[in-house]
Amino acid sequence: MPQYTPPRPICGHCDGFPTVTITTGTRTADGQRKTITANCPACRGTGHTTTAARAHTRIGA
Ligand SMILES: [Zn+2]
Repeated sequence: MPQYTPPRPICGHCDGFPTVTITTGTRTADGQRKTITANCPACRGTGHTTTAARAHTRIGA
């Protein structure tokens, strides 16, 4: 019998990786890489799907 995996409300938009760090390619005056952080707009960086986010995703489908 296969192991039962409980359903997890993982965000389907980012697949559970809500936050990404993007290297802009430029460097700051300190010589460090300048990076920007972007959060998933669907789950707002939580990585989990909410009812509101799911309803929002359905718009335009
Ligand atoms: Zn997400």
